[in-house]
Amino acid sequence: AQPQPEQVRTTCGYCGVGCALDVVVSGNQVSAVLPALDGPVNQGHACVKGRFSHGYLTSAERLAHPLVRKNGNLEPVGWEEALARVADGLRGAVAAGGPDAVAAISSARATNEENYLVQKFLRTVVGTNNVDNCSRLCHAPSAAGLSAAFGRAGGTDSFDDVEKADCFLVVGANPVEAHPVVGARLLQQALRGASLIVADPRRVGLAHQADIHLRPRPGTNVALFNGLAHVLVAEGMTDPDFLRDRAAGLDELVELLAQYPPARTAELTGVPAEDVTAAARLYGRARRPAILYGLGVTEHLHGTDGVRTLANLAILRGAVGDTGRGHGVTPLRGQNNVQGASDMGALPDMLPGYGRITDPDARARAEAVWGRTLPARPGLRIPEMFDAARRGSLRALWIIGEDVCATDPNSHQVADALDACPLVVVNELFLSETARHADVVLPVASWLEKDGTFVNFDRRFQRVRTAVRPPAAARTDFDITHAVAAAMGADLGCPTPAETLAECGRVAPVFAGISHERLDREGAVAWPCPAPDLPGEATLYTDAFSTLDGRAQLSAAPYLPPGEAPDAAYPLLLVTGRRWAHYNSGSMTRRGGNLHLEAGDHIDLHPLDATRLGVDDGTEVTVESRHGTARLVARLSEELSPGQVFCAFHFPESGVNALTSDHADTVTDCPEYKVTAVRLTPG
Ligand code: SF4
Repeated sequence: AQPQPEQVRTTCGYCGVGCALDVVVSGNQVSAVLPALDGPVNQGHACVKGRFSHGYLTSAERLAHPLVRKNGNLEPVGWEEALARVADGLRGAVAAGGPDAVAAISSARATNEENYLVQKFLRTVVGTNNVDNCSRLCHAPSAAGLSAAFGRAGGTDSFDDVEKADCFLVVGANPVEAHPVVGARLLQQALRGASLIVADPRRVGLAHQADIHLRPRPGTNVALFNGLAHVLVAEGMTDPDFLRDRAAGLDELVELLAQYPPARTAELTGVPAEDVTAAARLYGRARRPAILYGLGVTEHLHGTDGVRTLANLAILRGAVGDTGRGHGVTPLRGQNNVQGASDMGALPDMLPGYGRITDPDARARAEAVWGRTLPARPGLRIPEMFDAARRGSLRALWIIGEDVCATDPNSHQVADALDACPLVVVNELFLSETARHADVVLPVASWLEKDGTFVNFDRRFQRVRTAVRPPAAARTDFDITHAVAAAMGADLGCPTPAETLAECGRVAPVFAGISHERLDREGAVAWPCPAPDLPGEATLYTDAFSTLDGRAQLSAAPYLPPGEAPDAAYPLLLVTGRRWAHYNSGSMTRRGGNLHLEAGDHIDLHPLDATRLGVDDGTEVTVESRHGTARLVARLSEELSPGQVFCAFHFPESGVNALTSDHADTVTDCPEYKVTAVRLTPG
């Protein structure tokens, strides 16, 4: 008899929107993925990634065994041997260099419970704070900037309120392609009459419907935001009561803003002065304005300043901390659980719930639950891990579900770091670029094959449920972390994901009211949520900001130039980002139907540049930067201004991240992916 199909409700494992999906399963096969009509964010919508890109589950390329390097080659072995090799290697690294000779890169693709367990393993079994996650490469400046401005490391408002906003300022984001459900809902609001300001160097999808499209030169965001703030102040479009009662830093900011009148802003950014003024007036006169932004704000040498000077606009208008006056500032998170990975403390300086590792009270709370004394010194950030490996002081690196050789900047140096490290362990679905450099590769379950929770871009916890069983050889990251601990003679506790989240709530009171059982009943709960009988705080700061003095902090940050500028040798500016059909290094979306939608990486360039360079649509080109070379196919596009080129990084063979530089945000080390000087030649 044919097995009866069943339907499993889970949360999409691609982008940070967090669409609720109903997975139709028959005989342990996914036969369809349906957007949930009652999905709290998606409301019956989903994009081509969440709906159709599940063919990778049954790909013949999935790892069928653990692999261990022997005589230079990765060879299939049983789990016992692989785990013994990992445990021996970790013990050996600690014996040779102490606990700080070990590090782990946890994953935005892993569940909250897996991230919690990984950081607990590093801190309590190994004895180091060397744990980080890929938010280092995308939204670390959001955590730093939003914490400094408002007090918490997350967006200020719920996306549920999107229908109440009458003006959207969307900056450095292309939600129509990268967060399509958000893009669709913003477009819907624009068609209903909300005004739309788009700030992005490219003519991205939303820009076609925008009232004003500001096209700052890449790397000039801070000048643009200061210019907009100048107009708000100069034309009296601020909220004096809010600034008096709930904000700090106004005098210093007003003094700085004198340097950013529209004409000067235009010189610095390339945005016409009248557009700066018009955009400021649209935002400044709206009843309920909202700001949403993406990696075009964060992935810069001064990314944290970008977040803070963007937040200034909401503070000046009093459009944060009260749904009646505006809808604050919301980062559009890239990976599905990049918010959750950080919330769970997979960070070198933060415990679960953002208790600082240097804070004795935060440490004491975790120590009381974990029964171990914790190291007080912050650990290494991801780029520092690679530096330490090249120097020889990092002797073991565990990489969980990240293809750092494809996605991290200046990828040749990343590969050199892995090759220099005596033990590299990689948890992966496939033999990725990174796994090829590993000493041990552990086959894992994907997001459709495991149980737990994710946190989406507006701080909602939602359930992840096992739709299909993983292949026989694969284990969840949760089980693998337990198994490695056991192989080292340790017991992490937390036998199930549900019990893990419960323990996390004891370490981090902001999550104490959230449980699997409650999520099964209610669907989604936003943090902070300190008790089971309290609703989650979808809108933050309605009473006071979570800063030391309870006030929103304005930032007087001057514009400083990006790390690279075009010159005679490298005359074009490269911006990298995503395309609609693929997701990051493409390891899942390339192994299914989406490959037919977009079959390779392209480099987009303006027809004027193409003519000057003798390049046609479809010409193979060599792209060179000061850091490396990539081979791509040219695509002519008027979405870009002349002098700028754009490409994604979904196909590792094109080597796009060999081009990007080591320049990184001065506060958080987030790479400057958005500004690389390159040259392009046919052939
Ligand atoms: Fe929704 Fe993002 Fe998944 Fe698309 S990729 S279905 S927008 S969560």
